[in-house]
Amino acid sequence: FLSSGSPKVCIVGSGPAGFYTAQHLLKAHQNVQVDVYERLPVPFGLVRFGVAPDHPEVKNVINTFTQTAKHPRCSFYGNVNVGEDVSVDELQEAYHAIVLSYGAEGNRSVGVPGEDLPGVYSAKDFVGWYNGLPSCQELRPDLSCETAVILGQGNVALDVARILLSPLDALKKTDITQPALEALAQSRVCRVLIVGRRGPMQVASTIKELREMVNLPGTRPEMVAADFDGVAEALKDLPRPRKRLTELMLKTALEMPTEKEQERRKKASRIWGFRFFRSPVEILAEPGCNRVAGVRLAVNKLEGSGEKAQAVLTGEVEDVPCGLVISSIGYRSLPIDPTVPFDSRRAIVPNSMGRVHNAAGLYCSGWLKTGPTGVIATTMNSSFDTARSLLEDVESGKLDVSSAKPGSHMISSLLEKRGVKPVTFSDWEKIDDLETRRGEVSGKPREKILTVAAMLKVAQT
Ligand code: FAD
Repeated sequence: FLSSGSPKVCIVGSGPAGFYTAQHLLKAHQNVQVDVYERLPVPFGLVRFGVAPDHPEVKNVINTFTQTAKHPRCSFYGNVNVGEDVSVDELQEAYHAIVLSYGAEGNRSVGVPGEDLPGVYSAKDFVGWYNGLPSCQELRPDLSCETAVILGQGNVALDVARILLSPLDALKKTDITQPALEALAQSRVCRVLIVGRRGPMQVASTIKELREMVNLPGTRPEMVAADFDGVAEALKDLPRPRKRLTELMLKTALEMPTEKEQERRKKASRIWGFRFFRSPVEILAEPGCNRVAGVRLAVNKLEGSGEKAQAVLTGEVEDVPCGLVISSIGYRSLPIDPTVPFDSRRAIVPNSMGRVHNAAGLYCSGWLKTGPTGVIATTMNSSFDTARSLLEDVESGKLDVSSAKPGSHMISSLLEKRGVKPVTFSDWEKIDDLETRRGEVSGKPREKILTVAAMLKVAQT
């Protein structure tokens, strides 16, 4: 790619997709200039605001992203809300190409009566609350009940269950926010049921997250043996990762525990369990009182087998009393600018290998491109693919980079006129430094700043 001019590329969103796309572009093209625009004053998207606080090893990707941000041909502009502070049309005027990688900040709703009752939260907001996402700090979830029901059985559901039931001493050493830690210290939640439409062989979590639940100190599993009818017999035909996951579930649900494990379970004061073959039909309110008292679940049976098995209603329902409901049925991308094609049914930007359909010079990566599934490694590979598509287009001439573009000069002066002050990467490092120092005092890796105003104050003074 040495032969082509000096493409100016703008990336929207600084999560894994944004940074991995930037990384590949910078590595594979010697002249490309990459500017990353981020809505918040702080970078890294869900690595900071999604990944569970007790998974610090996952957050090590931040080191690689920091190297990318400090690359001489890369600049970071935080505190710039694309679609509001600057339009995609304006970015297209300033840059040869735009990569949209602004993630999936919306929420799939359960769509049942009672969903808006106090005591019902989305996992997206709950996770944002304990991870310090500024827009979720007012959530202050009510944890005064004993039983919580989580709707959904993916990794995010297990993260939430684990945080609700973890011993406080373990959480104290993480970067969970101080208000969340204080609320969890007062929490009376001691039983968490994790509900799914289908059966044990269709669970959407990975083995790491399940193992963490099984081994969570101070807890014991509470499963329904009948849910596992026929599962042992089907094991041998399962693909390997699914087989290992199912074996662990079977062992946890049905096998006689070792003496040591029996001792451990006897001492446990907190309970977690899967509830399979159940779909929510209504969130029930306490009579005469506007708050959640339970969930009405439809009982399902499976039609077909394997990953494609369908949950079909049996007509039976069952009420589960609880005081807290957290729906964890998926994130959803949102359109940010009316000029950008958007497939509202699939909630993604329609694309082929990251090239946005019918929009020359526009690309997408990450959850906005694929939908909200997969781990960071999945996002990395698909972001590298997008970067490759873009560079192929430069090479083939499909993306014209022959004329000079103003890049950040034009956008910076527009932002200045609009009173928006971008946060640079070295400004972010001031925030990072303060958070780390505040964390040291209490033995945490960092104590996050919780409002945009406070972040900007640190960044811009
Ligand atoms: P995001 O990380 O969401 O980044 C999008 C960025 O765009 C954000 O910084 C956002 O502020 C910014 N943005 C949004 N709108 C605008 C706008 N209008 N203008 C400018 N910027 C904007 N994966 C693992 O491998 N291990 C884990 O343990 C793990 N835990 C997870 C826990 C949770 C709760 C969730 C939800 C996901 C988890 N994942 C985990 C998956 C991982 O977080 C995703 O694969 C990855 O973050 C997707 O990257 P992305 O860049 O597409 O989106």
